Amino acid sequence: MSIIEGAIRFMHTGFNEHKELFNELKQTQNPHTLFIGCSDSRVVPTLITQTLPGELFVVRNMANIVPKYRLKDEFLATTSAIDYAIIALNVENIVVCGHSNCGGCEAIWHP
Ligand SMILES: [Zn+2]
Repeated sequence: MSIIEGAIRFMHTGFNEHKELFNELKQTQNPHTLFIGCSDSRVVPTLITQTLPGELFVVRNMANIVPKYRLKDEFLATTSAIDYAIIALNVENIVVCGHSNCGGCEAIWHP
């Protein structure tokens, strides 16, 4: 199935299945967990945690790296997302999820 076909299918089935939830979420979000995971296509946070839209605030990068906190003028996507999740969203949990056969971790140890 193509991405376009999947999006159309979602509009007709998945969206309607959770229509009330999506209506609630269009005003605000209140995720309970910050999930930091790898960009690997095999790791799907909502699938492996069986959570619904609005439950996870997700940050994904290669090898689920959490950089040390620093202030810079450059774009700090992961640091900004962590800061926002903790300060603005007040998440209750932080999960850093690694996985087996991670190409990013392999590159770190065996460049
Ligand atoms: Zn990985």
